[in-house]
Amino acid sequence: MDDHAKGAMHTNTGIHMRGMPLASLLFGLVVGLFVGLLGWSLTATASEAASLNDGDLVQSINTKHTVVPGGIYRWTPPAGATDIRFNDRPVMRFQDRILVGIPLNQPLGSAKLTYLLSGQASSHSFSVVDKAYTEQHITLQNREMVNPNPEQLARIREESRRQRALYLQHSDVPPPTTGFIQPLQGRISSLFGHRRFFNGQARNPHSGLDIAAPTGSEISAPAAGEVTLVDDLYYNGKTIFLDHGQGLITMYCHLSESLVTQGERVTQGEVIGLVGATGRVTGPHLHWSVSLNGYRVDPQSMMAELTPE
Ligand SMILES: [Zn+2]
Repeated sequence: MDDHAKGAMHTNTGIHMRGMPLASLLFGLVVGLFVGLLGWSLTATASEAASLNDGDLVQSINTKHTVVPGGIYRWTPPAGATDIRFNDRPVMRFQDRILVGIPLNQPLGSAKLTYLLSGQASSHSFSVVDKAYTEQHITLQNREMVNPNPEQLARIREESRRQRALYLQHSDVPPPTTGFIQPLQGRISSLFGHRRFFNGQARNPHSGLDIAAPTGSEISAPAAGEVTLVDDLYYNGKTIFLDHGQGLITMYCHLSESLVTQGERVTQGEVIGLVGATGRVTGPHLHWSVSLNGYRVDPQSMMAELTPE
């Protein structure tokens, strides 16, 4: 289930860093100190710099094979590698590399891709490192949106199942090569990964990017794709799903109006719907989710990854 709503700016404008672990703070401090001292230590004696234990630090800040929960892992597989999978799901092929969506609840530490090379089962390991996402407290006046009744819960579960199935689609068409544009210009009112609390109750982290704009503002397709859902959902309101191929699926929520129909193909930049305030919201905005191999990832990371070089 996707939890999202426009941040109730009148009740809480603060973005707190309370979720940041002390270890991360200390690590950041140490790395900062190390980087700062690097230039200085070149002219200092060896004994003065020895206490930095810099061998460990250099390894820790090597990010070549690391990624964060909710991020995208990029890797260039060996030539001839086939059937590359993450958690047994096929991953996106993009030019000479692969892009892998990492779930927000991915455990930190080692993660693994499997693939075939010359008929041999092979694997590639990478590290998932922590990211201190911010947190936000939201007050909703409509209690049914916080504690739905049994009938509403049944509807929510059924909708959740349908959405999950759509997210798991992996159509074997070439991925977008013309970039991935932001579907709507406006104030970013909530970032991906926010830890959210509705009326004090913890919810899943924010699974998309919220862009605030007046009702009726035009929403464009970030890349070419096929419309796989047009529906009115309990939390998400009027919603569109686009399938861009290779397991890249996008979702647009809270629309006032959809301008496309299920099964239709859309081109990059085509207007697909209008901003609204349907579903669980406190004001008009677009909730935009981006999913890769069935996991919601940071839309801003995806735009960066698919920008033509
Ligand atoms: Zn949202």
